[in-house]
Amino acid sequence: MKKINCFVCSKNNLSKNEIGLNKKMIDRNIKLFYCIDCLASHFEVKTEDLLAKIQDFKEQGCDLF
Ligand SMILES: [Zn+2]
Repeated sequence: MKKINCFVCSKNNLSKNEIGLNKKMIDRNIKLFYCIDCLASHFEVKTEDLLAKIQDFKEQGCDLF
């Protein structure tokens, strides 16, 4: 899988979870990705809330994670 950087803060090598969350919350076909911290500020939520969401999606068996 190719390496993806956050387009806001340039954090390197986003995790599969971060990428999956971008796709889930924004669009499956997005080209620019946020790291989890920038995604949290974009949606005005806490990073921990997004981590909890990742767990929820995993438990639902979402194929993005
Ligand atoms: Zn970032």
